[in-house]
Amino acid sequence: SLTGKDLHLSFGTNKVLRGVNLHVDAGNTVTVIGPSGSGKSTLLRVLNRLHEPEQGDVLLDGKSVLKDNPDELRQRIGMVFQHFNLFPHKTVAENIALGPNKLKGLSKEQARALALEQLDLVGLKEKADSRPGNLSGGQQQRVAIARALAMKPEVMFFDEATSALDPELVKGVLALMADLAKSGMTMVVVTHEMGFARSVSDKVLFMDRGAVVETGTPEQLFDDPETDRLQAFLSQVL
Ligand code: ATP
Ligand code: MG
Repeated sequence: SLTGKDLHLSFGTNKVLRGVNLHVDAGNTVTVIGPSGSGKSTLLRVLNRLHEPEQGDVLLDGKSVLKDNPDELRQRIGMVFQHFNLFPHKTVAENIALGPNKLKGLSKEQARALALEQLDLVGLKEKADSRPGNLSGGQQQRVAIARALAMKPEVMFFDEATSALDPELVKGVLALMADLAKSGMTMVVVTHEMGFARSVSDKVLFMDRGAVVETGTPEQLFDDPETDRLQAFLSQVL
């Protein structure tokens, strides 16, 4: 499980997180929705310690990780962003093998075997020796997911993983994320895809202006929003 407890963060005078709580049980998927600038990406970055919170705690399996080495935490949490950031001059398999080879101590051969295994899982084994630039955006994002999974993370974060994709490529990536959720991965997903949030999440968090305004099951939030702010947001995005 992953827990963010009463997280606070400011950039200058801009209070971006104002006491945010998030909990995801092992094997569950929590989606985070909310308007632009509400602090969703910042929340993920605090949870994996790309930013240090001014107040609050981050617990993995009930144990605080704020005093641990941040690099270790980032190996336990896989992250997939809007922009895939694959190395253009390395092959697809090399991109995936890099982390396991450099950070997990696997030999080059072991890391390549693992890369091929992960590529198979995302349906792209035949692209192992291609350069990322020769793949579609959707395929590149599936490679980025395979790269994160190759590190055998305990939790996966997705930050608008489909926002930069052409519409016809979005479905395939969402289907892969849904499969991953079904397979028992623990996931925190920031998304504007309300269909995904509704059908895949165990729990939804609605953030506005740095705070969690509503949280509950997808049915509770989408069918029976309690606050005006969530109602207004849903009327814009649905
Ligand atoms: P979007 O849906 O557009 O991605 P978001 O909910 O992810 O929005 P954040 O990126 O978390 O929002 O930004 C929240 C606020 O924090 C914004 O006001 C933003 O300008 C500010 N912010 C984010 N990162 C930084 C930073 N590194 N330095 C200063 N301000 C920042
Ligand atoms: Mg964001």
